[in-house]
Amino acid sequence: MRRYSLRNSNISGILWLALAVLIVCVSATFLHVYDIEKLFKNQAEDAFLGHVETGVSEIQHDIDFVKDLIQNFDNYVESSESNGDVQNVILSQEKYAPGYEFYYLTKEGLLVSKDEISFEGDMYDSLEKISTASLSNGFIALPAKSCFPEEESGKCIVGVMRIEDKSGDDFYLMVSRDLEDTMSIGNFDYINKLGTFAVVNQKGDVIAASHSYNQYFEGCNNIFDGLEKKASEFRIAKKNEELRKSFSSSAVSKRSFTEDDGKESDLFLGKFADSYDLYYVTYFKSGLLEEFVAKSTIRSYMVCISMMLIMIVLIIYTWGSLNSSNERMMNLAYKDSVTGGYNFNYFKNKAGYILTVQKEMPFVLLRFDIMNFRYINEAYGHDRADKVLTATIKEFEKHFDVRKELCVRINSDQFVALCVNDMDFDERYMRYVKGITDAANENGVRYPIRLKVGLYQVRKEDSDIQLMMDRANAARKSIDISQNALMAVYSDNIIKDMRKVDAIESEMHKSLNKGEFRVFIQPKWDIVEDRIMGGEALVRWIKEDGTVVYPSDFIPIFESNGFIENLDFYMLEQLCIKMKEMRKSGNYQFFPISINQSRVLINNPDYVRNVDKVLSRYEADVSMIQLEITENVFFDQRMKMIEVVKDLKNLGLDLAMDDFGSGYSSLNILKDIPFDVLKIDKDFFDESFISNASTVILQKILEMANMLGIDVICEGVETQEQVDMLKKFGCHAVQGYFYGKPMPMEEFIEKYCVIDNGKKEKEGKKARKDNDKKQ
Ligand code: C2E
Ligand code: MG
Ligand code: MG
Repeated sequence: MRRYSLRNSNISGILWLALAVLIVCVSATFLHVYDIEKLFKNQAEDAFLGHVETGVSEIQHDIDFVKDLIQNFDNYVESSESNGDVQNVILSQEKYAPGYEFYYLTKEGLLVSKDEISFEGDMYDSLEKISTASLSNGFIALPAKSCFPEEESGKCIVGVMRIEDKSGDDFYLMVSRDLEDTMSIGNFDYINKLGTFAVVNQKGDVIAASHSYNQYFEGCNNIFDGLEKKASEFRIAKKNEELRKSFSSSAVSKRSFTEDDGKESDLFLGKFADSYDLYYVTYFKSGLLEEFVAKSTIRSYMVCISMMLIMIVLIIYTWGSLNSSNERMMNLAYKDSVTGGYNFNYFKNKAGYILTVQKEMPFVLLRFDIMNFRYINEAYGHDRADKVLTATIKEFEKHFDVRKELCVRINSDQFVALCVNDMDFDERYMRYVKGITDAANENGVRYPIRLKVGLYQVRKEDSDIQLMMDRANAARKSIDISQNALMAVYSDNIIKDMRKVDAIESEMHKSLNKGEFRVFIQPKWDIVEDRIMGGEALVRWIKEDGTVVYPSDFIPIFESNGFIENLDFYMLEQLCIKMKEMRKSGNYQFFPISINQSRVLINNPDYVRNVDKVLSRYEADVSMIQLEITENVFFDQRMKMIEVVKDLKNLGLDLAMDDFGSGYSSLNILKDIPFDVLKIDKDFFDESFISNASTVILQKILEMANMLGIDVICEGVETQEQVDMLKKFGCHAVQGYFYGKPMPMEEFIEKYCVIDNGKKEKEGKKARKDNDKKQ
């Protein structure tokens, strides 16, 4: 079965992103761990040496810079800027080279710095050291101690240059640089974790060392002394000598040795640029290096595993919300909130799929609604009515095969279903409808559920679900409930009928303007006095070519397209106009004329106001006008009708309930709605007239209406027998062919309203005689 899913692009975007991050993390973990593993495999040492090399070049840079500064210092002293003041020069130079300090030393021991000019006797000793040091290119790099005797431990290197002044006297320029500044950051962090680093002179005196130096060589200002303390092998004079000699070589040499505590350690020894006579010693413990690498590995593992865990949690969470949001979207897109079943969108997809896959199977598409659902809603409340809708879906699932048959609610009480039209279809359908009624009963809706179904037989070549549904719907609309039919099968005739509807709709406006809708009046007869007592206005559509179209052919169409409002007001207006004319001439007598009002009009909130406007416009005598509203309107829209009827009565109009007995009227209505006349439907007299039950009912209706003060008129009276019977039951008024068919208004007026004593009596008797002859 095809699955219908919705993609939530945002959430799936996050999911993909999370997946991508996870993949990156896994790869990074792998690469990282792999990298560390490589270190494990003897490359840890290379990595360490890499840091040492960079550290060495940083220090080398410091020394070179010291040399540069010294060589240019002389020029500044000469320059005019300094005004010959050495202290000025020192100040300005230090500004350009932060971290570097400048001094000026005369052979008499006068020391000029940026802060002071002092005469230090001790400097004589230093001078001696300085002057005897071999100055290559006039420059030497010395430990600070050599120049500043008060310095306890070496941390600076000092560059010295001998200058000869104009008088031929020697003096010295000195620049000191605190190497521990350099050794406290960057690569030295790494070195300090695993060992230590020291800048030494050829004798092994420590000029500057990284801060971990004391951790390993506490109190040893000479590295060789320190090593002697650590390992017995350096206490052997020969070995120590070898080590010291290795300084003279400019190549980097490595020494591995075992310390007195049994741990393996390594030394790297090397020389800075040849000219400086400066060396470095790097010491580290192999065990420490491995330990460090192991720790890093574990830390890397931990970081990556936690990241992976976070990613996995994120993915699970996102996946979860993606699913739940997909479900929510699915519900929105395909679920019907009222019945809990699927909706029409789903139907279109699924039915299309079933029809494609099951091509050989005979299918029917059913488009149906629940008869009088509005009544169920009003009488039993929305909750129970909704349960009927739900049962319509649930019962379908019980009686049909949901793998290839399905039913959904389209809206309100409108449904569509796809069923297999096999031998059992009728039986399954009957059980289904009964199932809905039973379920409705269980929920307190004691009302027979009847479905009004339009059925379309699906053909092999059909694929357009909407078209099939429209056809089934056309069949449903063609059902004439008065014929007791509840199911119609789509046929081409239905389309023909639809075309007729189109033709009528295209003509109606023009026809109304041209006056093709004509008022006919049928007399109402007082059978006790045997005289006319009124009439009913009925419309006839008489086209230009003389064809007469009867109301049954166009009223239902006008009711569904709303044009009935125009027609009914037109009829009322025509009647009022005619009455006004008659009143003006003064030659006519008046009978109350009733006029039909469609149920559609009642829905317009301005209805009563509009009626009032027409009546006022033609100054109509409201006592001569009666409005007829069909029984089923009272039944379907009881509350609204009570209001409308009261408002119409306030205008002075009489109200008649038309077609009483044709639908599901309840005698209760008689006490609830204050109408004046009850028109008993002609169907009552058809075949059932002779049945005992209906005569008893008729009798009771007449009695009850009499008690309630409501007049009764029986429609469709065609025979003398009917008249006699009704007379016997106490009925006074009838309307029917026996006394006269509907006739053009002018003819009616001519016949009954012209004041000409005796004429109307003759006309009535003549009509009866004609009828007798026919029978
Ligand atoms: P209705 O209001 O119940 O009108 C009575 C119908 O019964 C009329 O049919 C009338 O010709 C017919 N009739 C009267 N006596 C007899 C009889 O003895 N035997 C038989 N077989 N029929 C009889 P009509 O004129 O075809 O109208 C049908 C229905 O169309 C009306 O039923 C009414 O509901 C509706 N209608 C007619 N004119 C109008 C109108 O102007 N506006 C609206 N809204 N509906 C109208
Ligand atoms: Mg009527
Ligand atoms: Mg009627």
